[in-house]
Amino acid sequence: MHINELASHLDSWAVDLGFQQIGIADTDLSEYAPDFRAWLEKRFQGDMGYMARNVSKRTDPSKLVPGTVRVLSARMDYLPATRGDVLNSPDKAYISNYALGRDYHKTVRSRLRALAKQIEFHAGGQYRAFTDSAPVLEKPLAAKAGIGWVGKNTLVLNETAGSWFFLGEIFTNIPLPVNTEVKEDKCGACKACINVCPTGAIIGPKQLDARRCISYLTIEHKGVIDKELRESIGNRIFGCDDCQLVCPWNRFAHASEEPDFVPRQGLDAPTLIGLLAWTQADFLARTEGMALRRINYSQWVRNLAIASGNAQATPGLIRAVKKKLTESRRTSDALSSEHLEWAIQKLNSA
Ligand code: SF4
Ligand code: SF4
Repeated sequence: MHINELASHLDSWAVDLGFQQIGIADTDLSEYAPDFRAWLEKRFQGDMGYMARNVSKRTDPSKLVPGTVRVLSARMDYLPATRGDVLNSPDKAYISNYALGRDYHKTVRSRLRALAKQIEFHAGGQYRAFTDSAPVLEKPLAAKAGIGWVGKNTLVLNETAGSWFFLGEIFTNIPLPVNTEVKEDKCGACKACINVCPTGAIIGPKQLDARRCISYLTIEHKGVIDKELRESIGNRIFGCDDCQLVCPWNRFAHASEEPDFVPRQGLDAPTLIGLLAWTQADFLARTEGMALRRINYSQWVRNLAIASGNAQATPGLIRAVKKKLTESRRTSDALSSEHLEWAIQKLNSA
């Protein structure tokens, strides 16, 4: 099949595999690389040391996979169909929308591989699929592929779909025709994400100090969370969606129909007391196959402790936190113990 003909089939093949959009970019990231390097120089990546490694591969796809001349960027929506107001329910814990179902890495990567095989069958060539698993500058590539623009909250925004989507990439050595890059930034004068951020992590348009971001603190950061930041975390125990919830472009977002992303284990509105009752074995069994497994059990308890310390002091919650503290001391889990002690102090002084 000629490559121009192939490109015309791509959309329907991608849709058949559960993607909502696909675009094609060339590999020239020279316009975006300086901003990424400047972000690293400010050390905004915090403990995410992997971001500072393989910078030349990240800013040049042909260095990551030799021979690459095009990157296919695909969008898969994940917004759950319904969700109660968990953020304003002090007895509940909030988990980011993207983490409520099956681990997206598994779903997106397997679909990308299936798509790559289909393209290879019709046109030959070589293909490598990535989703958040290799040094890939995925947001600029998505902009170049016509998926959307990078908003002030640093996420890719699409004018008919908002920002509730995963991105995945296929690198190829076939010179497919490229899509038109989204150059226009349609955030305009809006600053809603900057103003709403609970920890002031968006220090300016497209400038994220990850060290203050709740997503980073509750997931990427393995150690003690600064006391100064704990109250701002509220009841968010895995990630944070505030800068997406407030974004006006998300009025246009569509609920995902992907069965893999249907919330599991009632984790779209769990109670703090219920989650505190989970043992380590429960945590491992109930989060199997989910992105929640990016954190370990100590981080899970640490995050629950912070949310509990920020909750309303009820006898049931205080009992549950104390019981967890006994467990964490018995297992010499210093990280959990320190945060649970903080929570008990906060609850007792409320
Ligand atoms: S995810 Fe939350 S903490 Fe991080 S930048 Fe967005 S609003 Fe701020
Ligand atoms: S909230 Fe406003 S400024 Fe922030 S990403 Fe959305 S449109 Fe852009």
